[in-house]
This record gives sequence, structure tokens and C-alpha cells, in this order.
Amino acid sequence: MNMMYPSSSFTLTRYHSGSRSYTKMSFPVHCGSYHIIETRSHIFHFNLNHEIIRARSKGSDWGHPHEWLKRTAGNDWVYYSTGGYAGVFEAIGEYYLPNFRYPTNNILGGTPFKLPDVTELVDGWYDMVAALLPASQDDDQHRFIKSVLRNTPSLLQAKGEKLHDIIGGVVSVLPPDARHVDYNVIPLTISRGCLYKCRFCKVKNSTPYRELPAAEIDHQLISLKELYGCDLTNYNSLFLGEHDALQADPRLLVQTVERALTGLGLTHSAIDGGNVFLFGSVFSFLGADPGLFHALDRLPGKIFINIGLESADQQTLDRLGKPISAQNVKEAFARMLNINKTYPSIEVTANFIMEDDLPESHYPSVLALIRDSLVRNCPKGTIYFSPLRFAQPSRSRLFEFNRLKVASRLPTYLYTIQRL
Ligand code: SF4
Repeated sequence: MNMMYPSSSFTLTRYHSGSRSYTKMSFPVHCGSYHIIETRSHIFHFNLNHEIIRARSKGSDWGHPHEWLKRTAGNDWVYYSTGGYAGVFEAIGEYYLPNFRYPTNNILGGTPFKLPDVTELVDGWYDMVAALLPASQDDDQHRFIKSVLRNTPSLLQAKGEKLHDIIGGVVSVLPPDARHVDYNVIPLTISRGCLYKCRFCKVKNSTPYRELPAAEIDHQLISLKELYGCDLTNYNSLFLGEHDALQADPRLLVQTVERALTGLGLTHSAIDGGNVFLFGSVFSFLGADPGLFHALDRLPGKIFINIGLESADQQTLDRLGKPISAQNVKEAFARMLNINKTYPSIEVTANFIMEDDLPESHYPSVLALIRDSLVRNCPKGTIYFSPLRFAQPSRSRLFEFNRLKVASRLPTYLYTIQRL
């Protein structure tokens, strides 16, 4: 159903059918089913629970008609800019550049949240929509706006907190591969903490690694289903948290993915395909039985496993406080290439650290893997370079990244830390 309601001051389009698949285009492509209110000055998008999910101004002071504000399920506003820089796609693999209100390791981007048009929309969208109520032309418009107004900013904040309560806290970092679905993932925690507690890491917590009992995971699934409600149909992807889901018992891991895909309806969503994103560590990846990859490969959709390798240089690993050896990293990299070649539905990707003042041996050690260990270019096994410093955009680090990207025989992008 796609109906337009003209009125003197706004139009309402209910159940607009957006794209059925995530595609990388140089203009915004919005997926799934959503409602649209358009006024002379703004466009607002609402999900199927009538919660605001996107907005933009149509004014001349707005950065670009392709730029949007997005509200995440964790109730963060993210500003999608075109970047004002032709190389955004080459740098991050997407045509948009996400800008956040919290500190991240972004080396591109500006400060859109300081622009009056942006702050007015983030702080004022509710009043703008409320002001439309008297101009409703019929009962349907009136009912829809009343329903949107029930989802007040404080209720949306409470709902974001409820999500965090269900899964055991804020997702401090999503895997970089989640960019393929615009970070629209349902988070489900299978284990907490991580193995290493690396000194350099800004997203870790102090929780010792522990796997959750199946009953606790099932309880999360029930609560998530209730929380996302009607809008579940707009999700086709799962993030299996927290920092090292691959370390969980293989039977629990496969069973959890199966239960989540069916229980949350991710395989028959309004968006084609299905994806599972998770992190692994060098030890969990090296220790994983081949049977696990066979089982994961047979599941519906694609599986993306992201491993933090950081460096193949011992001096750098020691300086980072990462308690693994350069030899472990080389073995994990070799296994990554092998798994990617063997299993069509699985892509293992890897992260390396990028910083100005690392030991000189760091970049040669990385190039020995991503350039010299491959005889030809390979489309699978994306490499992400993760800047260490937060809140410090830097063109010189971008220059360094471009040098590495040109040399790499694998798809190579920057990793921007994004939370949920
Ligand atoms: S980099 Fe990964 S393993 Fe190391 S502390 Fe951070 S989350 Fe844990």
C-alpha cells in the first residue's frame, strides 16, 4: 500500500516501499518499508512502530540534498554526509560518511552537529511534527501524527536503554562489515568480554570472557522480538556480540544463529538476503574446528567474521599491549585466506592498526601479508585499517592509508568505530 495524502502543509505517505536490498549507490538508498511526512521545509521518515528514523532539511543551508540524519535503535543520531571529498568510497567502501556525536576514530568528516540546521532538527523534530497536527486533512493523518507523537524523545531514549538492558549494555563497537547493511543489525549477545584486554583498546570492558547460557540467549531473543515489534520486518541482519562470539562453544554458536534467524524472522524480512556479523580473536579463530565453518556455511545468508590482527610485527604488538605473537597473526592471516577460498558464504575480514608513531617495522610487516603473501588480487577478505586516535580527523593519516590501499591485494578500507 502506498498512498499520498496532499494537504496544504504536508504530505503523508504510508508504508512506502523502499529498496529491497542494500546497494552501494552514490545517492541515498533507503531500504525496507517506512512512513514519510514531507513538509515544505523537511522530510521525516518513521519506522513501522511510528518512531522517527531519518530526517533532513530541504533548506538551502542544509549541506546537500543527499545528506541525512539517521536515528539508530540505540537512540544515537548519526549525520550521513557526502564527505565533500571525492575519495569517500575508496576510503570507507561506502558513498556516505557517518558523523557521530560521540568520539570515534574517524579520520574523515567534519562537525555537522555544530550546524544550526542539524541541531534544530535533532532537538526540534518532535515540535515540528506536533505543529502539523492542526493541519491534518483527515482521520488517517490525524491518527498517524498522534501515534508518532506518543513516541516522544524521552520515550525513544528509554527504548534505546531498554535495548541495552536486554543485551547487557551498549554495543561499544560494531564489526566494520556491518557497513554492508548500513549498521542496521539486531544485536544479540552470546558472550561477554574478550580474551586479551589489550592496552591500546578503547572499546573493551573489564568483564572476563564468559559465554552466556542458552536460556539467557533465548530470553534475549524473546525480549528483542517484543522490543522491535512491527519493525522487525525491516531487519535482515544479526550482530552476535560481544567482542569474541567465535570463542563460544561451536554448537551454541550455530544453534544461536539458527534460532535468531528464525525467531526474529530475519530470513523473510522486507529486505532481501540475510547476514550474521561477529567478531573473533586470533586464538578463537586459530582454535576453531573446521566443522564449525562447514556448519556456518550451510546456514542461510552470509556470515562475516572480523578478526583484530592489529600488526604482524612483535615490537608493535608489544607496544599495543596485545598478548599474542607475530607468528599467531601470520597463521591467522593464512587461515583467513584459506577459509575465504573454501566457504562461499563466509567472509573473514581483518583489522590492522594505523597510527603515526608506531615502530617502523609495523607497516612492512602488514604489507608482507596483504601484498606480498598473495600472487594476485583477491575480492574476499577485506582489510580494515583502524586509526588509534579518537576525535582527530587527519589528512596525513588518510595519505598513509591510501598508500597501503594501493599496495594491498585485498579490498582495503578504513574502520570507523560505530556503536549501537
Ligand atoms: S582489541 Fe579486542 S581483544 Fe583486545 S581489548 Fe579490545 S575488544 Fe578485547
